[in-house]
Amino acid sequence: MGSFLNCVAMRVLSGEPIARGRSHCMSCGHKLGVLDLIPLFSWLFLRGKCRYCGSKISARYPLSELVLGIVYVVILAKYDLTLKTLELVVLYSILLCVTLCDLDKHIIPDRFIVVGIINRIIFILLSGNILEELKLSVIGAFSVSLPLLILSLILDKILKKDTMGGGDIKLFFMAGMYFAWPVNLLVLFMSAIIGILFGILAKSKKNEENQIPFGPAISVGYFLGMLVGSELINLYLGLF
Ligand SMILES: [Zn+2]
Repeated sequence: MGSFLNCVAMRVLSGEPIARGRSHCMSCGHKLGVLDLIPLFSWLFLRGKCRYCGSKISARYPLSELVLGIVYVVILAKYDLTLKTLELVVLYSILLCVTLCDLDKHIIPDRFIVVGIINRIIFILLSGNILEELKLSVIGAFSVSLPLLILSLILDKILKKDTMGGGDIKLFFMAGMYFAWPVNLLVLFMSAIIGILFGILAKSKKNEENQIPFGPAISVGYFLGMLVGSELINLYLGLF
């Protein structure tokens, strides 16, 4: 899934059709065999090079495989074999695509936002409690995206330039549907800190562009939100 989603992200960015036959080397086009497609290990054994033409294979494939593997295990450990697990597996797969696209081209394609919204709606309909889930979802979706939208419109007027990426706001809307509003506020807080840390890291690497891609920060924020969000909020409320 990790390397497959890498291809999905790249093909959505370049506008190629997503389904395009078997995996092949991006340089020489040689079809890849079973031994070339073992997650993580193939890349390690081939030392990051194509077996057929020797050209370098980006570390983002094994990294995506590793990260997504960890995320799937965490979801399964937390939610067991339930519909919620299935729903979140789709959400975090989308967030990986969003992260890759935002890192690559500073774009969050609308297609991923739409797929995320549809996925949530399907699982609202499958839940035994449609009205309650719908209410939770609508409040969650607007809890961060609406204040951010208003803030960015005001800032745009004052500073007379685009201050906030529309993609980030849409991402908060889509992912916000999956969580209660307190978790969403916590995620906003954590994403801002993570985004600033990413920004410092990017600066120290002498990155020419000054723009911070917030998509990855928001995705990491929603991972932490899923992992410990409600626990942290209960802990905080317990203080009073
Ligand atoms: Zn090759």
